[in-house]
Amino acid sequence: MSTFDAEKIRMDFPILQLKINGKPLVYFDNAATTQKPQAVIDSLIKYYSEINSNVHRGVHFLSEKATNAYEAARKTVQKFINASKPEEIVFVRGTTEGINLVSNTYGLKNLKEGDEIIVSTLEHHSNIVPWQMLCERTGAKLKIIPINKKGEIIFDEFKILVTDKTKFVSVAYISNSLGTINPVKKIIDYAHSNNIPVMLDGAQAVQHTKIDVRDLDCDFFAFSGHKIYGPTGIGVLYGKEKFLEAMPPYQGGGDMIKNVSFEKTTYNDLPYKFEAGTPNIAGSIGLAAALNYVSDLGIDNVAKYEHELLDYGTKKMLEIEDMRIIGTADEKASVISFLVGKTHPYDVGTLLDQLGIAVRTGVHCTEPLMNFFKIPGTVRASLAFYNTKDEIDLLVKAVQRAQTMLL
Ligand code: PMP
Repeated sequence: MSTFDAEKIRMDFPILQLKINGKPLVYFDNAATTQKPQAVIDSLIKYYSEINSNVHRGVHFLSEKATNAYEAARKTVQKFINASKPEEIVFVRGTTEGINLVSNTYGLKNLKEGDEIIVSTLEHHSNIVPWQMLCERTGAKLKIIPINKKGEIIFDEFKILVTDKTKFVSVAYISNSLGTINPVKKIIDYAHSNNIPVMLDGAQAVQHTKIDVRDLDCDFFAFSGHKIYGPTGIGVLYGKEKFLEAMPPYQGGGDMIKNVSFEKTTYNDLPYKFEAGTPNIAGSIGLAAALNYVSDLGIDNVAKYEHELLDYGTKKMLEIEDMRIIGTADEKASVISFLVGKTHPYDVGTLLDQLGIAVRTGVHCTEPLMNFFKIPGTVRASLAFYNTKDEIDLLVKAVQRAQTMLL
């Protein structure tokens, strides 16, 4: 048993004290976005009331203060994911922008007709569509790693897909719809033994498991601040320096240049080459506050507690008649996606909402994955460290009630 005190931690999250439809909020939509602790909210208030100024431009007091805070946030991220240098940390809007940045820069520069990019069946749309767009522009082809009925990537099939045409691999570390933890280290090692770079979609990983980009040896890693208790509109693209250096800029504008003339513009050093225009300064500072908050809790403690909660929740949910859990991988994190009897996910979700329970219903931006399971979608309860076993008991009761109402 972990000694994690979720009840105490809940007090740090003002929104968790809300009542919804007269019932205490039970928030199980953490894979969509997480709630924010007071420390993150305070950091935003402090930024706008004491620091607000543009970065990298002014010599005045506030501009220097804002620049220092922005660059300190970058170092906090660097440390959190164990990157070698702050230059390898590019602030972006989120995972989606991180992946689009890589496909539009590395991808457009290096891929050509006949080349192949590998993704998996369980990817979020944001790790499918940017690569499809790249394929349309270059004539490259997308190859899909199959999964088994439990929702696990079939590693041997991945190995078969890798040929001398393969030029890039991009996979999710953890599936948002199923919670499957993919064997990313094995994928990276195998791809590297064939000289193929690998990008990890870390949107559902950073908040649940320790990330060490050097140990993983991934070439790119993207995540979103809002999924790790930070603000929306801020995220991170990590890239190995050798790749980032060789890539052309993504967007043009202020800050990403060294000198501009009508004849020739020279680009700025890393990471600014990829940060055109005024960045999300407040967001980066809020993200750093969130990462510090999680570090103080200890990501290993978080992972252990969430795992206990997942085991408990899975066991309890399976006690419900006609319960079908979608995604039963041996290695799983924090997601219980389910269907109950012949009920439609939307109907279950709507009834749960009336009881103050927030879950997500639908295809969770993974339409090909839902097609694989031949289902219209699922009801997804996604857990965070502030959830409790009592809340799971409430969910189980509410699902049973919905089941009788929808008979
Ligand atoms: N990948 C995965 C696995 C996700 O869960 C999400 C968000 N649901 C994304 C990518 C996209 O993240 P964002 O919308 O924050 O860019």
